[in-house]
Amino acid sequence: MKILVSACLLGNPVRYDGRSKPIDHALLDDLVARDRVMAFCPEVAGGLPIPRNPAEIISGSGEDVLAGKAGVQTENGEDVTGFFLDGARQALELCRRHGIRVALLTESSPSCGSSQIYDGGFSRTARPGAGVTAALLRQNGIEVFNQHQLAAAVHALDCDADND
Ligand code: SF4
Repeated sequence: MKILVSACLLGNPVRYDGRSKPIDHALLDDLVARDRVMAFCPEVAGGLPIPRNPAEIISGSGEDVLAGKAGVQTENGEDVTGFFLDGARQALELCRRHGIRVALLTESSPSCGSSQIYDGGFSRTARPGAGVTAALLRQNGIEVFNQHQLAAAVHALDCDADND
């Protein structure tokens, strides 16, 4: 049983600024060593470049984007909603193909955030909510954790394996 992990948390330089956001933790190292990690970046998979303009969900959450009630825009007003939706769908497809039921995603991202995202004002102000990929995975029964919940994610992964 594998866990889907935001590629930037594994040290891959795929963020909008061309940097990564690595986690230095023995639990994650152990998962990697046991080949239980599937790295994925929904924004890059969806077709956005590295680096890219930062984007935020405007007037809503990831669930609203999935429902067609909100969009994702860059700071200069470019609509990038389609890229975000495509990346989220690819993440779900990857999980389905590999039987993945647990994900560890980067908090606050408009794709990967699972308990908070930025509010669409480009002032680094957070609000409760999930990003587009996190929301789609959850809607399809996948447990989503952020990088501060690594132990809980590993526990969920182990429980999941025990139930198989
Ligand atoms: Fe990391 Fe997710 Fe942003 Fe990709 S979309 S850089 S994996 S937080």
